[in-house]
Amino acid sequence: MGGEGPHILEKTRSRTAFGMIIYDFMDLHAALEQYFHYPQFRPGQEVALRHVLQQRDALVVMPTGAGKSLIYQLSALMLDGTAIVFSPLIALMKDQVDGMNKRGIPATFINSSLSNDEQNLRQRGMVQGKYKLVLIAPERLRSPNFKAALASVPISMLVLDEAHCLSQWGHDFRPDYMNIAALRPQLQPKITLALTATATPRTQISIVEQLGMPEAQRFINGFNRSNLYFEVLRASSNSEKLSAIRDYLKERASENEKVGGIIYTGTRANAEEVAAYVRDNCGLNAQHYHGAMDAQARARVQDLFIAGDLPIVVATNAFGMGIDRPDVRFVLHHTMPGSLEAYYQEAGRAGRDGLPARATMLQSAQDIVLHEHFIKNDAPTGDELRRIHSLLQTDMPPTDSEIGQRLKISETKSRVAIGLLSTVNGKLDDGALAQIINQVEQRREHKRSLLRTMIQYTQTDECRRAKILEYFGDSDGATDTPNAPQCCDNCDEIASLKQPAEMRPAETRTERAALIVMDTIALIAQRNSGVGKGKLALILKGSQSEDVKHFTQNRNFGKFQELPTKEVESLISQLLNAGYLKQVGDERPVLQLTQRGEIMLKARAAVNVKLRSADAKAPTSTPRPRTEGNTIEVTRKMLDAGKTPEAIAAERQLAMSTIYSHCASLIGEGQLDLERVVDSARQMVIRAAIKTVGSVDALSPIKAILPEYVAYHEIRCVAEAWRREQRDGTAPPVAPRAPATHTELDGDPLESATQFENLRKWRLERARADVVAPFIIFSDEALRCIVNAKPRMVEDLLSVRGVGQIKMERYGAEVLQALKSS
Ligand code: ADP
Repeated sequence: MGGEGPHILEKTRSRTAFGMIIYDFMDLHAALEQYFHYPQFRPGQEVALRHVLQQRDALVVMPTGAGKSLIYQLSALMLDGTAIVFSPLIALMKDQVDGMNKRGIPATFINSSLSNDEQNLRQRGMVQGKYKLVLIAPERLRSPNFKAALASVPISMLVLDEAHCLSQWGHDFRPDYMNIAALRPQLQPKITLALTATATPRTQISIVEQLGMPEAQRFINGFNRSNLYFEVLRASSNSEKLSAIRDYLKERASENEKVGGIIYTGTRANAEEVAAYVRDNCGLNAQHYHGAMDAQARARVQDLFIAGDLPIVVATNAFGMGIDRPDVRFVLHHTMPGSLEAYYQEAGRAGRDGLPARATMLQSAQDIVLHEHFIKNDAPTGDELRRIHSLLQTDMPPTDSEIGQRLKISETKSRVAIGLLSTVNGKLDDGALAQIINQVEQRREHKRSLLRTMIQYTQTDECRRAKILEYFGDSDGATDTPNAPQCCDNCDEIASLKQPAEMRPAETRTERAALIVMDTIALIAQRNSGVGKGKLALILKGSQSEDVKHFTQNRNFGKFQELPTKEVESLISQLLNAGYLKQVGDERPVLQLTQRGEIMLKARAAVNVKLRSADAKAPTSTPRPRTEGNTIEVTRKMLDAGKTPEAIAAERQLAMSTIYSHCASLIGEGQLDLERVVDSARQMVIRAAIKTVGSVDALSPIKAILPEYVAYHEIRCVAEAWRREQRDGTAPPVAPRAPATHTELDGDPLESATQFENLRKWRLERARADVVAPFIIFSDEALRCIVNAKPRMVEDLLSVRGVGQIKMERYGAEVLQALKSS
């Protein structure tokens, strides 16, 4: 293909007195028609194109499938010289270039899939200006020869596709992208165009800063996918998720005979498990897809799916780049992703054909735990950084994945480390290492904040579409929200609440009391202030406290004078739990009405809450004899003597729940270590659930989102510890504590120690295979208990503390095998 500019462009561009090329409206449209045969531009394309053609730098953020490539392809055609396009997606380059060639656009690609001769040939063609576009994998820049060749290319524009790979804050950071940024000052392209489907405002800033073009205009568009319906369903365990998937697929299959959908899971093991479950239980063909499969197997699944011959793929996030199947009717997330951008990119693969499609997420407390684990695991330690640094000092530095394999760390971790180390020149001294570790910490904190935003999305009671658009900064979309006939589960709920038929006017004293609470909050909010739970209770009680003297004018001040404070507080908590109120703000949260609350208040409708003094006959007037302190004291002494709660209950002939309630009180008073009663893995799951619920005032909402095997008494104990930590300001992160060391191994010391070590080895292998942290499988404490219990059959494990039904079923046989092999 020749390097001559295409004929229509020659005719339709003219130079101004300053030599700048100008294009009018007709030129662009004529070129769009001629090369792409499209009658019109998609939203956001034309404005970005015009900007670029005026030789200005730009960052374009548009979701996958919105038509970003057209922006650089068409501008490349209209400019003199060759556009150099960097993309990490080697597998897609050939198709992209074939597509362009078919349209008569002289383009090529250069990457490692070509023979050396072919690469050289194309490189020469590039230098000779034969092509309007050359697609290049960023790894090419590692070759000095290639860099030198680039310097003599008449470059029209420098294009960075998937530009989020440049940002360490993005979820797909690639150190090779930093080489592009480093090369830019040498190449001095007239225009630099960065494009990505996934960049939050923070990532956007990082991209333009890395490229040294902070003034570049940002074009953010097309995030409002009006044909997608968003919903979040909660599940308390994996088995609940599986049955939810079964019901969901049944419904989809009945709506549309030709279902096409993607189920995303958080781990490879889950992808395989869910695919098998769908095949066995839902009468649909499903195949799994993840990064540990060989390329051929992956390509086979992908091809079958794209051709429409496979209805369902169950995949990790490895599945996605270049999935161009338009009729995907749903994207179902079995596991909550770690960030809203990752979620939206995956969910956005539904409904490319513009027909109605669903984006559904199943969410459970364990999902949070999983991501906490990933965040911890992706951060290189000082020791790892040192070792990677010395590996990189050799003449032939190993690749990311080789480093990962050698040091037995994840590829993401090695990529992160290499990127951070690339800023170090020469020796890695303590100062440089400290700086990098600081960056690692910042990165980790950033990931936590991404996770928090994801969690907020799952918890919001407001329009989910609006949340997404607000997050990406797509204000065009946000103004016409909800721009969809079927928007999201929350909008549906609000619409259903607006149906007066479903509401009943508040009648009872309790129902009216609930409205008074909501009314007080609404009145306070009108004055642009807010109060927390404690203050609100004081206002309603009409307290003389200094704290609330500004609120004496509130019409509800003192309305609940006759109610016990506890009752008032419980009323507020119940309204919170039922979703009529929410708490906003981290440090000193204030109460606000949710949309649901506003609607109920406006309609003066009955809400379902309970008030003990109103509903029960009379409160007990005589206080109970204070024997409680003594009995707790007895339990404490027995615990101190090393007895388990089970043994104490048996010995004292008291119910287990009683002993555990004693434990909870002792934990609350700081007299008993939580580890004694609840193992660390279990604690972690419960703490995550508490975080999700946001309060320990009522245990039932916490119980509701936890797996069945977590008992009430365990939640109660953790809740007490939590309350104490909040009070003392000593709240630990949701991460696990050091494993408990309370249980001693008994029996033959050598045999027990060997068994324990064998179990740990098995646990490590299993954890690697499942891509989870070992403690998620069993704590050390639980392993010791298993050794001591000397189980002979799988069922025997059920009596061991730390082993529930699910773990027994999942791991029982392997545990017995590991014990036997001792
Ligand atoms: P992105 O790079 O944003 O993921 P693509 O550039 O691959 O998206 O475009 C997605 C699809 O939309 C492609 O099939 C492309 O040909 C098509 N497309 C792009 N612009 C238009 C347009 N103006 N009119 C119709 N189809 C378009």
